[in-house]
Formats: sequence, C-alpha cells, structure tokens
Amino acid sequence: LHRLEEAEKRDHRKLGQAMDLFHIQEEGRGMIFWHPKGWTLYRTLVDYMRRRIEAAGYVEVKTPQIMDRSLWERSGHWEKFHADMFVCETAEGETLAVKPMNCPGHIQIFNHGQRSYRELPIRMAEFEGLHRYESSGALHGAMRVRQLAQDDGHIFCREDQVEGETRDFVKLLNSVYADLGVELHAVKLALRPELRAGTDEMWDLTEAMLERAARDVGLVFEILPGEGGFYAPKLEFHLKDAIGRTWQCGTLQLDMVMPERLDATYIGEDGQKHRPVMLHRAILGSLERFIGVLIEHYAGAFPMWLAPVQVVIATITQDADAYANEVATQMRAAGLRVALDLRNEKVGYKVREHSLSKTPVIAVVGRNEAEHGQVALRRLGGDAQHAVALEEAIAALTLAASPPDQRGA
Ligand code: ZN
Repeated sequence: LHRLEEAEKRDHRKLGQAMDLFHIQEEGRGMIFWHPKGWTLYRTLVDYMRRRIEAAGYVEVKTPQIMDRSLWERSGHWEKFHADMFVCETAEGETLAVKPMNCPGHIQIFNHGQRSYRELPIRMAEFEGLHRYESSGALHGAMRVRQLAQDDGHIFCREDQVEGETRDFVKLLNSVYADLGVELHAVKLALRPELRAGTDEMWDLTEAMLERAARDVGLVFEILPGEGGFYAPKLEFHLKDAIGRTWQCGTLQLDMVMPERLDATYIGEDGQKHRPVMLHRAILGSLERFIGVLIEHYAGAFPMWLAPVQVVIATITQDADAYANEVATQMRAAGLRVALDLRNEKVGYKVREHSLSKTPVIAVVGRNEAEHGQVALRRLGGDAQHAVALEEAIAALTLAASPPDQRGA
C-alpha cells in the first residue's frame, strides 16, 4: 500500500507537468513535447552518455529516418515488424518506412568499403529518434511511446572478441548506473523465442556464446526461455528504483542473423571473407522511458548535475535586483544553470515555491548580501541558510554540479 501511494506521488506524468518538463497532447499521441527544462534534462543525460561511450571507444553516426521498403525486406523487418512500422508512399510510387531500429542502417555503414579483421571491433552508436507504432491504449506517459530514442549501439566484432566486449559493456553499464544513482538488480538471459529468424544451428551457437561470455565475466543470471529477440538471444539488465520497483533498461544481444541477412563481411587473417558477430547494446534503453524512471526514482529531486535548474536566485527586496543579476551572470559564466526570481513576493513564498519545484539550491539575496558581496544558500530539504562570499559559493556550487565523470579524484 505504501509503495502504491509512493508510486502515485512520484508519477512522472504528474511531476513532468508540475515541474514543467514535458507534455503530450492528442495530435502527437505517444510523442513528447519536451519543454525547455525537460529538454535540458534530456540533453544533460545524452551529453553524459556521449562522453562515456566516446571514452569507451565508440564512434557516433547518424543514419536516415526513412528508408526504402527493399532494405526492410532484406533485414526481415518488413515481414516481422510491419505492423509496428510507420509506412508512407511518395508521389513517385516509392514505399518508405520510418526506422523502428538503427541496426540495418549501421550495417550499411559497416558494409561501405571493405573491412579487415584488424579494424574490429567497430563500436557504432546513435542517439537519433526511432518510431514504433503502439496502439493508443498501450501508450503511457514517457514510459511507452511511439517516438523514442535510445543510447543505441552496435558492436561488430570477431567471435574471439565477444567475451572482452561483454566484459567492457558490463563494466560501463555498472559505472553508468552508479553515476545515475540506480542499482543493477538482476541479469536475465533470454533465449530463442517461438517466432525467430535464423537456423537452429545458429541459435545453438549464439546462445552458447552469449551464455559463456556472461559466465566468464562473472554475471549471475536467471534464464528466460522463449523471451529472446527475433534475431538473437539477449542479456537483460534490470535495475531497481528507490521504491523497490524493477525496470529492464540495459540489453546486450548477440546476433549472427542480421549480419547474414544484410551480408556484412570482413576479410580475416586468412584472407577469406568472414561474418562479423553483431552485438546490439543499450545501457539506458529508451531515453524517454529512462527519464520517466529517473523522475520517479528521484521523485523529481534530481542530483544537482542532472537538475534542469541548479540554482534559483531569489531576491528579498527589489533594491537587490541589480546585484541578483550580477550573481546570475557570474554563476552562468561558471557553467551553472541558473534562474532568477525577481518577483515582488515575500522571500518565504519564493523559497516554498522553488522547494516544491525541487530546485536543489536557492540563493537568497537582499540588501545585506549585496553590500557584503555574499549570497545566502539554502539546500533543498534543509532549513539552514548559510551566508557565504559569492566567489566561495560559486566554487562550491560548481563542484557540486559537475557530472560524476568529470569530477576529479
Ligand atoms: Zn540493434
């Protein structure tokens, strides 16, 4: 009962509205209108992921949103995912489909030019939008949408590189979850589904390879028969939120089917053509859904580095306006995300309001602070207010607001 009440209080749709992060309306069912604050949160998360994957040796690409039916026929999506795809016809008689996944596009880049075994692994990432038809009844806030983006990536590698890539992926995933304040709760290995592409021999091989890699890197996992992807067995990474609910976010799929269907090859050490193994992987999964999970996990009170507005500068009297502007300018120059509240309201009212909107820090300024070059800092949830020199405040806030991957040792 307590958990239900908590879940209701934390509902990302309510908080998204109350905190002015996003909205959804009938004309764009299952698609998010990100407001400035919500988009700041989104971009902060993506910028962070970009730094993490670049440091892990990924290259980022961008592939077309809409591609010809013939490609989707070759990839198998036309046959198996047709009902989930948005399709359009042009005046020239072309039939085009909006991409539900990036994989076929990434193989086109892999296939462009000849690849050598020496180039592998190639780790390709993309953060662009995907569209999947979901019935309007299935849609749910940001958690289940028609337009989404993922922290998507595909690793093209040799069979002897699967274990190393799995190890690096799990390490990166654990580090990202720790930075985001969520906990990896369980790992599951989902095996061949009833409806699938590829031969049984291929599935025997990929299931065995993925299971061995998972064991070799020390994962403890549960086996889910029949729940793998259409092309490939998959490791699912489930995290646990602040009120004990679990969410499947990360995945790693080991695929030998799509490289075959789309004829991906590399030249091996023996001078012969070989098929690469393709690992489909995501750490956060759908970014829309992950942000929904983060909103509910933190009940909107994000750690400072993620908060869309990190500091509100609130004036006590109007004769502090000029100083408040100066404080804002200096804080922005230091890289802080700042809002100004110069309204002619009682400061107690302002503090209550910004506390309700979960702003991590409120900097109160009045005539006294202006005279002494100070700000009075209040942290969200605390009653105490500390007057400190502006320079000192900026140094402390900048440190507190820096993303975990950019904090010095
Ligand atoms: Zn994929």
